[in-house]
Amino acid sequence: MFDRFVQFVRDTFGETDGFIPLHEPRFTGNEKAYVNDAIDSTFVSSVGRYVDRFEEQIREYTGAPYAIATVNGTAALHIALVLAGVERDDLVLTQPLSFVATSNAIAYTGAEPCFIDIDLNTLSLSPEKLSAFLDSQTEIRNGSCYHIASGKRVSACVPMHTFGHPARIEAIVQICTTHHIAVVEDAAESLGSTYQGKQTGTFGLLGTYSFNGNKTITCGGGGMVVTNDEQLGKLGKHLTTQAKVPHKWEFNHDQTGYNYRLPNLNAAMACAQMEQLDGFIANKQQLAGFYQAFFQTTPYQFIQQPADSQSNFWLNAVLLNDRQERDEFLAYTNSKGIMTRPAWTLLTKLPMLSHCLHDDSTNAQYIEDRLVNIPSSVRLT
Ligand SMILES: *Cc1c(COP(=O)(O)O)cnc(C)c1O
Repeated sequence: MFDRFVQFVRDTFGETDGFIPLHEPRFTGNEKAYVNDAIDSTFVSSVGRYVDRFEEQIREYTGAPYAIATVNGTAALHIALVLAGVERDDLVLTQPLSFVATSNAIAYTGAEPCFIDIDLNTLSLSPEKLSAFLDSQTEIRNGSCYHIASGKRVSACVPMHTFGHPARIEAIVQICTTHHIAVVEDAAESLGSTYQGKQTGTFGLLGTYSFNGNKTITCGGGGMVVTNDEQLGKLGKHLTTQAKVPHKWEFNHDQTGYNYRLPNLNAAMACAQMEQLDGFIANKQQLAGFYQAFFQTTPYQFIQQPADSQSNFWLNAVLLNDRQERDEFLAYTNSKGIMTRPAWTLLTKLPMLSHCLHDDSTNAQYIEDRLVNIPSSVRLT
């Protein structure tokens, strides 16, 4: 059956013998025109109209009233956590199945991640396990949530919409609101995915996106913070631009800021990519449909979009029966020039995080043992 999969992928991508990557970018629109225009304008750095236009496009697309472009998705997540009020020695709840950027951004604030298991249906943070953890291990004091055993404040929760599939974000936000915990959505992978018709990234206090080279759309490197909160929106812009007090000629800074503003050159590419986002997602949803039909003829489960959701199907994924079979599938497909890869090693196992608090990781471990990501680029044919 593995050979049938290889043939299926070749047929679907119209590529008879070359290498088929996991996810490659497509520059089929105005990318070159806009980047050239940015160069001609001499505004290639942190000031320029493409940065403003890109932020406007994201506001319009997501419905979030405030958007702040940043140098990458990790920086966006860091600044969102700062805006959410996360401080040194706090705990920040997140899931063990995520890219390391999620926990790195938490670490930059001086807080520590605390890992709560995922749902098998969404592959993202489990509302039931979150609720059980908070009810049994935390208490509310002076309007804040505290972890009883460690005495640490639980200031934020970072659910991640895994591979573009929406988490059960409404339930997560509701639980966190009851416990006085700010929700920062790591929507790096899920731009354009919706839960009950609403864009992922716009449910929490803040949400962040990534425009790294392997994401659904890219500008080389880039990120975005979105929020409904006017004060946080304005403070976010301020903090990402060295906290410079606006003035025609004077240089004054009123706090420690960050050089996190996206360069205009990258924003030019991003504007062109945004124009194609809906087309890319439609193309990826169609590919997911082909995979779904194919895997129905096999003993393997294709990861479908969760209930009440429209997924952008950033990275398609399939579950093998056990870890040994997973490894055989990875070895076979990669030897045939079809790029596939396993899920991330659980964050709880990484050396710099192994001391962190965590709940059970049964579901995350089940997925780590079985899941394989399969080629998911937008098809040109
Ligand atoms: C890609 C990604 C990020 C970070 O984005 P960069 O732009 O590469 O910094 C953060 N979280 C998750 C889950 C990601 O997949």
